[in-house]
Formats: sequence, structure tokens, C-alpha cells
Amino acid sequence: MNDDYYDLLGVSREASTEEIKKAYRKLARTLHPDVNPDPDAAEKFKRVSQAYETLSHADKRRQYDMGGGPGMGGGGFPGGFGGGFDVNDIFDMFAGATGMRGRSQGPVPRQRRGGDVLRRVRIELRDVVFGTEEQVTFRTAVLCERCSGSCCEPGTSPTRCTACNGSGHVQRVQQSLLGQMVTTAPCPTCEGHGDVIESPCTSCSGHGRTATERTVTVRIPSGVENGTRIQLRGEGETGEAGGPSGDLFVELSVADHEMFDRDGDDLVTTLSVPMTTAALGATIPLDTFDGEQELDIRPGAQPGQEITLKGLGVTPLRRERRGDIRVVLDVDVPTTLTDEQRELLEQFAALRGEEAPRRHKGQKGPFAKLRERLRDL
Ligand SMILES: [Zn+2]
Ligand SMILES: [Zn+2]
Repeated sequence: MNDDYYDLLGVSREASTEEIKKAYRKLARTLHPDVNPDPDAAEKFKRVSQAYETLSHADKRRQYDMGGGPGMGGGGFPGGFGGGFDVNDIFDMFAGATGMRGRSQGPVPRQRRGGDVLRRVRIELRDVVFGTEEQVTFRTAVLCERCSGSCCEPGTSPTRCTACNGSGHVQRVQQSLLGQMVTTAPCPTCEGHGDVIESPCTSCSGHGRTATERTVTVRIPSGVENGTRIQLRGEGETGEAGGPSGDLFVELSVADHEMFDRDGDDLVTTLSVPMTTAALGATIPLDTFDGEQELDIRPGAQPGQEITLKGLGVTPLRRERRGDIRVVLDVDVPTTLTDEQRELLEQFAALRGEEAPRRHKGQKGPFAKLRERLRDL
């Protein structure tokens, strides 16, 4: 590492800045990693760049000259550049010019991951209670049967691109700050793949996949919510040229049910019963997802009262205990009565001592009295 910077650049100690620049350009053209893949060359390029960075700045050069330079016992070397110079700055400059960094760029594979597919599926509340299976049909890309994703006509294979010699990129000479620079770009002939398909598969036009309609069976677990998305890995579009497949997402929408609303794992419904049923009690049939059940209404049931049928609700996603069915009672009070019905109800009320204060014609109700008072004011 203790190279003399003047020796490195091959210039005399009296060389002008212009001569130093010229010498560096000349070296960079043969040593730059974009041109010369040899790791030794890369190492030498780094050192040459260091030398150039120091000697091309008058004050840094003076400092270097005063320090005596490496190998002459000069203080502060190596590492004492003082100006915060980083050799990577030079590399960044080159990287900027070539649109790449280092030599990692090889041919670009044709394989690409396929797209994800999203499908909405409408399910019934019953499916939420028990879980279900649905068939989802959608248009998608599948592996080409003719070429099995190779993109080539059967019996043929890609040939090495002669324009880039299989590397996938080509070099161009450009004028830049540092003089003539070699930059790298994807090969236009093979689009960077490094090989050319001369006989593309006739079935997929050389894409390795074809469009078709597919049907996938989706298992929908119980306890799902409206808007739940189920992910089926690898069931989306097949990738190009045999690349990996995307995923299928199934988004669920749960249809409203005519009778039950969902409340967590419970199913809730409101049941209207006649006034007399509420008073006398009854056992009435109730349709549930587990078939007809008997709903036991105790005598004296009140409006808003809840009757619970245990374990007939939704099976949660994690399959713990099932929720319940909760029936909220509503009591129907008759709005019209025949003469006979009224008579009976009046008798009933009398028996219970429930004769409400009744207002007959001519008798003034509270509102009439209020109106009179307001008029008097
Ligand atoms: Zn094909
Ligand atoms: Zn090419």
C-alpha cells in the first residue's frame, strides 16, 4: 500500500495538474472495474484513484509532498488525507455514469413472478356458522402446455445472443468528466436476457404462459367476517417463462340474513309474540341453522326479554365453543279490537282491578284542561 503516488500514476514529481489528469484518465480506461473484471485491476484502480485525488488538488499535493510520502517516514501516512476524501466518491461517480454499481450485473432472467388475483365471493350467514367450500372461477394465466414455460417451440432452445456474447449487456464509450468512459447498458438485441429465442412457442407467443379460465375450490372456515380475505398461495397468475405464481385472494362478503343478525359469535333475532302468549307462556318452533328448535316462552314474558339457545350460534375461527342464539321478545299489543274482544278484555281488566281511568265524552282530558288554561292567560 505504500506506493508512491507519482510512481502509481507514472508521472514525475514535477508533473503539472494537467499531466496528472491525463495519466489518471489513461489508467482508468484500462483499470476501471467496468472495463477490467480482474480483481487486481480493481485494487490498483482504487490506489490510482487515491493518488489522483491527492495529487490533483494543489493543497493536498503540497501536504503530500511535505509529508514526504509513503515509504519515506512521513508522518500521518497512510490514512492522513485530512480532507475527508473517500475513495468511494470516485466509484459513485462511475456508478452514476453507468447506472450501476460494481460488476454484479449479469443476464436478466426471463422468469417473472405472476400477478396476484383478487376475487370477491358472496356467502350466506349459514356458511359463516359452519364454514363452507366455494368454487371460484376466474380468468388467469397458466403455464403453457406446449412449451412448459420454456417459451421456445418444442425441440428448440434459446441461443446465445451474439450482440452481447451472452452477458446481457453492452458497453458504450462516452465522453465524461474524466475523459472517455465506458458505460454499460442492457443489450437491445436480447433485452438483457443474454440469449435469443429464435423460434418462440406458437401457443404462448414466447411468454411461457397462456390465458385461460380456472376454477379453484376455496375452503372457507367458519367464523369469517364480512371483508375477510383468504390468501391461497400460488393460486394466482402463473409467472412469465415458468416464473413463480402469484397468489389468489378471496374476499368474502356475507349476505344479510332475513332472520338473524350476527353479534360476535352470537346470532340475534327479534321475535314478536302476541300479548296473550307473553302472558300465558308457550313453546313455539324456531327455525335455526341446526333445524327447528323449540323456544320456551315462560308465562309472564316481558318485552325486550332475551331467551338464549345455547351453542347454536357461530363456530369461531379458532373453533372454540360455539356462540348462542339470542331471541329478543317483542310483545304485540292489538291495535284493533272487535266488540267481543273489548268486552272480554274489560272483564279481564276488571278481574285484575286494572280499570284504567277512562275518559268519556264530555269529560275533559289533561290536554283540554291545559288548552283552557292557556286561553285564559
Ligand atoms: Zn408456450
Ligand atoms: Zn444480447
